[in-house]
Amino acid sequence: MPTLFTPWRYEYITAAASQPAGCFLCEAAACDETEEEARLVVARTPHHLVVVNRHPYSNGHLLVAPRRHHATPAGSDAAERAELWEVVLRAQEALERLYAPHGMNLGMNLGTCAGAGLPGHFHLHLVPRWNGDTNFMSVVAETRLVPEEPATSWRRIREVFCALGPGESRR
Ligand SMILES: [Zn+2]
Repeated sequence: MPTLFTPWRYEYITAAASQPAGCFLCEAAACDETEEEARLVVARTPHHLVVVNRHPYSNGHLLVAPRRHHATPAGSDAAERAELWEVVLRAQEALERLYAPHGMNLGMNLGTCAGAGLPGHFHLHLVPRWNGDTNFMSVVAETRLVPEEPATSWRRIREVFCALGPGESRR
């Protein structure tokens, strides 16, 4: 197979990856407390934020992201690395208490070719799953069956997540 080198695209590709303008996660990380509902911000910890996905694959679909705009966990500093998993597990616990799912998908899409819709700011998806719901290929293929409005999910999850434990420092 012939290789076509495209060095002129390099600047475009790298610029897109480091461009925070219009990044909904950065906006959510920095928003005023009165905007949290509109931005579906469940919680902000010292280094991360938890938001309800505005385009959920299932009820309770959450995103956990660093407050700082960067593309991969490999770029996280020590404090971010130490906190991320604690926040993810708290989010998982909140979803299990609220939705009693039979299973859950936890994962990241790093890079556009891997399916990232926002490649410059990494985020971990938590997608509750039930026996007999759409299979994981449907998640990939964006077939959705979501009876609950994201605003309703936000209200329910926020209450449980915030009641779950210390370390929470929502502004
Ligand atoms: Zn960002």
